[in-house]
Amino acid sequence: MIKIIGAGLAGSEAAYYLANKGYKVKLYEMRPIVQTPAHQTANFAELVCSNSFRSNDPHNAVGLLKEEMRFFNSLILEASDHTFVPAGSSLAVDRVMFSEYVTQKIKNHPNIEVIHEEVTSLNPDEYTIVAAGPLASDGLSQFIKETFHQESLHFFDAVAPIIAADSINMDIAYLKSRYDKGEAAYLNCPLSKEEYENFYHELMHAERVVPKDFENNVFEGCMPVEDMGERGIETLLYGPLKPVGLRKPNGERPYAVVQLRQDDLNKTMYNMVGFQTHLKWPEQKRIIQMIPGLEKAEILRYGVIHKNTYLESPKHLNNGYQVITHLKWFFAGQISGVEGYVESAASGISAAIHMANYIEKQEINPLPQDTMMGAMARYISNHHETFVPMNANFGLVEPVEAKKFDRKKVYHDRAIQALKNYLGMED
Ligand code: FAD
Repeated sequence: MIKIIGAGLAGSEAAYYLANKGYKVKLYEMRPIVQTPAHQTANFAELVCSNSFRSNDPHNAVGLLKEEMRFFNSLILEASDHTFVPAGSSLAVDRVMFSEYVTQKIKNHPNIEVIHEEVTSLNPDEYTIVAAGPLASDGLSQFIKETFHQESLHFFDAVAPIIAADSINMDIAYLKSRYDKGEAAYLNCPLSKEEYENFYHELMHAERVVPKDFENNVFEGCMPVEDMGERGIETLLYGPLKPVGLRKPNGERPYAVVQLRQDDLNKTMYNMVGFQTHLKWPEQKRIIQMIPGLEKAEILRYGVIHKNTYLESPKHLNNGYQVITHLKWFFAGQISGVEGYVESAASGISAAIHMANYIEKQEINPLPQDTMMGAMARYISNHHETFVPMNANFGLVEPVEAKKFDRKKVYHDRAIQALKNYLGMED
């Protein structure tokens, strides 16, 4: 018997995969007895905000992820196929019909028993997948904190946007550390006075996400850049856009500088220093692309500030989403450090695959790292820099030598071939 905690996107996928494999599953869902601050119903896989699963283009990272999930009969995608609404090249669903579909499929499955109860502790002798999501209950969070050390559970996500390295214009951005101290570790995007004033004006007028009640008053020390800007036009010049010690290669002193910090070992992603933001995503893109050097910036992960409970996974999980110190426990979904609906669902499938392998063979057979599912598992188990939850993106896979135009197709074809090999499928 396998226990799964949380009938969200990850937990529903994991339960369905394991039940279809013939395992008996007990799926614990605390709603409607205990509600989260964001869910509205008692249905499974409820979409708490947008109704979009983002791009369907297989040459886009999240599109590829969906294609991979279909190899494993994803319940979330099956439900989307029955409940989609027109959304151009994106996949969007009727949120009510979607979660009703998932709920019925799970409740009617002969191998799944649904128990409406809050789980507040785990038993080391029971096979368990923790998929309690970004709003995991306080009781369970407390247990995880005590078991994995206080500092290993984060409660808020205040993430600055992350930019694809190959989209930064290196004719303008330059590598330098402030006052040339230590190894040159930052990319710097310089702004003239006029460019700064335009940027500031647009930043102050850009549309913001309205925080939910439970997200107010919790972000001391990680103030959004737009809130800081409200203190006056000069404030950012003493904060994240401070130019001192960052002269350009030609010796000129810029009026303001946006700094980008390397975010992964392969130098494929750069983090915008001090740019935590509450702006709506299209607005983030517009404002960021006003910065010289970032005119064509590809944003791999948008800035967010919201409640998000997640484990410091690289310290505790292997690349099968398995807890290193408690081999019968697995984590999946947002609480394991992936970000987004589709990614959460995909990680539920991954954790279930690996748990089944472990039960059958006492070993983990990781998904190929060239697949998006495998790359995500590697990220959450092996990322050495500051660990923040991450959306699917091509910065997570090994780079390929190909013309920029062809690169995404090469990533896609390589991933699908690797997955077919893993599954022993003929071409
Ligand atoms: P969930 O879907 O939240 O499922 C977890 C389940 O566990 C819930 O049903 C919960 O009731 C249950 N649970 C919790 N604790 C216990 C317990 N102790 N015992 C039993 N059951 C328990 N991602 C996007 O891609 N697009 C968005 O627009 C988006 N908006 C978001 C808005 C908010 C406010 C938040 C917090 C997150 C948002 N996310 C969004 C991020 C994330 O993708 C979703 O939260 C997604 O639902 C995560 O899937 P999950 O399966 O990990 O968790």
